[in-house]
Amino acid sequence: EAKKEGGNQYYYFTNEINEIISRKMLLETGLRKALDREEFEVYYQPQVEVKTEKIVGFEALIRWNHPDLGMVSPVDFIPLAEETNLIIPMGEWILREACKEFKEWLVVNSDLRHVSVNISALQFRQPKFSELVSDILRETGLEPHYLELELTESIVQEPARAIPIMSELKSMGVKLSLDDFGTGYSSLSYLKDFPLDTLKIDKSFTKEIHLNMKDKAVVETIVHMANKLGLNVIAEGIETTEQLTSISESNCNEFQGFLCSPPLPYAQISDKFIIPKLLEPRV
Ligand code: C2E
Ligand code: MG
Ligand code: MG
Ligand code: MG
Repeated sequence: EAKKEGGNQYYYFTNEINEIISRKMLLETGLRKALDREEFEVYYQPQVEVKTEKIVGFEALIRWNHPDLGMVSPVDFIPLAEETNLIIPMGEWILREACKEFKEWLVVNSDLRHVSVNISALQFRQPKFSELVSDILRETGLEPHYLELELTESIVQEPARAIPIMSELKSMGVKLSLDDFGTGYSSLSYLKDFPLDTLKIDKSFTKEIHLNMKDKAVVETIVHMANKLGLNVIAEGIETTEQLTSISESNCNEFQGFLCSPPLPYAQISDKFIIPKLLEPRV
């Protein structure tokens, strides 16, 4: 009996594996063609200053509209894009697109401070990465201080390799932020050595910040430390006014989250947040 059951389990197990593998293959072949077929789209999520509630920037987040599977989450295809090196052309595409589109918004809204673009570790390690960034800035005419690159803790885990590249980008005038702060294993002692502008507090710390004194203590401490190091702090995943009140009490400078808006396509961001600016009375 036991053997038969075991056999069945094995059968289901391989079936499941097969399904995962065929989905992966489907995604991989699709991914190779997606750029040419223009199936990628940049969505943007507003970044809001806590004190003034003004929108000060946007984070660019890639979306893939797959012809058969519909919208595929970046959580599903970014790792695959990294495995296949497709993240390189994809990352270049979104960087150029975000710079171009943000430049158009700047004409209307001069309060905007930056557009943030996520950079994968593999992309960051390309020998000519900073040259690429500088080419794209020149090409699109976006002034470097408007571009903020979001790096993850996996990048800064190799300080000897990362610091020279970061310094090069900084000397061009580009801003750098550390994404998902607190979820990786980056040592606090390294933080002071990195030429960063912003820390992004991961949403796992803000999820229950209004309910959990310990989460709030962690956030307060991160903000305090960041300010001492001269860094700006942005909290991710703010969905409710209760959470906003808590991060405000923790002296967090900026937030991102569904409370203000989910990530939206260019046209919807324009309609909701940029065009209304044109209609405001001028002082
Ligand atoms: P991330 O950079 O930490 O982006 C934040 C994620 O949180 C986004 O998920 C965003 O849609 C989501 N989010 C925003 N507000 C809220 C909220 O209030 N509540 C909750 N629960 N979630 C919220 P998304 O767009 O699915 O992206 C997931 C991850 O995929 C990103 O995490 C980033 O690591 C990666 N990614 C997205 N676009 C790109 C890209 O162009 N290049 C690279 N290399 N990675 C990207
Ligand atoms: Mg990010
Ligand atoms: Mg993040
Ligand atoms: Mg994240």
